Amino acid sequence: MKYISTRGDKTERGFSDILLEGLAPDGGLYLPKSYPQVSDATLTRWRALPYADLAFEILSLYIDDIPADDLRDITRKVYTEEVFGTKEITPLTWLGERIALQGLSNGPTLAFKDMAMQLLGALFEYELGRRGQTLNILGATSGDTGSAAEYAMRGRSGVKVFMLSPNGRMSPFQQAQMFSLQDANIHNIAVEGVFDDCQDIVKAVSNDLAFKREHRIGTVNSINWARLLAQVVYYFAGYFQATKSNDEKVSFTVPSGNFGNVCAGHVARQMGLPIAKLVVATNENDVLDEFFRTGAYRPRGTADTHETSSPSMDISKASNFERFVFDLLGRDGSRVKQYFSASRFVLGAEEQAAIAGFGFVSGRSTHADRVAMIRRRHAEHGVVIDPHTADGLKVALEQRDPSVTMLVLETALPAKFAATIVEALGSEPPRPAGLEGIEQLPKRVKVMPADVAQVKAYIHAHV
Ligand SMILES: *Cc1c(COP(=O)(O)O)cnc(C)c1O
Repeated sequence: MKYISTRGDKTERGFSDILLEGLAPDGGLYLPKSYPQVSDATLTRWRALPYADLAFEILSLYIDDIPADDLRDITRKVYTEEVFGTKEITPLTWLGERIALQGLSNGPTLAFKDMAMQLLGALFEYELGRRGQTLNILGATSGDTGSAAEYAMRGRSGVKVFMLSPNGRMSPFQQAQMFSLQDANIHNIAVEGVFDDCQDIVKAVSNDLAFKREHRIGTVNSINWARLLAQVVYYFAGYFQATKSNDEKVSFTVPSGNFGNVCAGHVARQMGLPIAKLVVATNENDVLDEFFRTGAYRPRGTADTHETSSPSMDISKASNFERFVFDLLGRDGSRVKQYFSASRFVLGAEEQAAIAGFGFVSGRSTHADRVAMIRRRHAEHGVVIDPHTADGLKVALEQRDPSVTMLVLETALPAKFAATIVEALGSEPPRPAGLEGIEQLPKRVKVMPADVAQVKAYIHAHV
């Protein structure tokens, strides 16, 4: 399989090349030249496979520059019951006759980003080893992504992680998750400032091309195709658990921010997985809901981005969204380039009408909605759900067709978002076994002023 850019550059790249890259040189995102089509017979065969082998089958349709035995070895080492807690890896919890949660957040950091990041860690180690190269990952985090990256890269050879976070501004649990890692290749840098200061430092370091090259700086951002590809697998796994035959259709509701997760659902649907609807659920930062309702895409500035109680969905622009728009516009790269070069755009009437053919609908949820939904699930099922999953469930109940099974993707465990759970239920969320008392573990973190030169000096001394 070869990969092309969403902005019209026709240069074709292999999987291993784009694995270690960010954006395409023309500023677009990479997508496969075409989506492999999955037949009824293949679906039937895949139905019987354990998760790791299903992952191998799907990945191998998109990766032809890693030998099959190596790739199977990688998926079997990554998707284990030991790491993800159950044999199913993404188990369903039924809430009613045709509605279930699909658990994606039973990995080491209790959020769905582990599903992709754990695979990415293994792929990076493999590819860097094969090339005899090393990579130093530099990132900024306000919580989820940074910890998922650290847990994916810890102890791996050839990779170091330098993760900037705003000093004292993450929850005690999130700080403990990251700072308790004692692996020599993980470097936590707590910056005296806010998240935007951290991000500015990462940008400044990355814009110094000489420094970047000399210190082999890379990223693990959400536009990486390998991350998206890893996420395609659990749509198949959810479908197989929810159905008995391939004649049935299933819908998915996805709590969304950067549009990576639901974009993987779009890819699964394009491959021929019988998905009825893909429901995009947003919080108060509703740039995606506005798009799917009106055809207008209006990214917000930082000042108009709300800090909400489902913080991992607090985005101003949806970085993966361009991939879907490329398909929506019949893969017309020059049109995509025209739209995304402007600060905002409005689809033409025909383009907007085409959205329905891709199965997308949307809705939004607010703080009051998610608190009410957490209470309702707890009262009716005795289940505690996290605020992001609550946004999804709220929108799923509005959008669902009672005759079609709806799977709501559970994107985090409530233990990570104690304050909102306490507000909703008056008590602390349950904490998974083994994580009691993690706040008391010794911490490994370097506190530093928000100063680019000092961060560079630290990296220089530790690569
Ligand atoms: C990252 C994240 C999301 C948003 O996912 P996208 O792929 O960015 O749309 C939703 N919920 C949680 C808990 C997350 O960590």
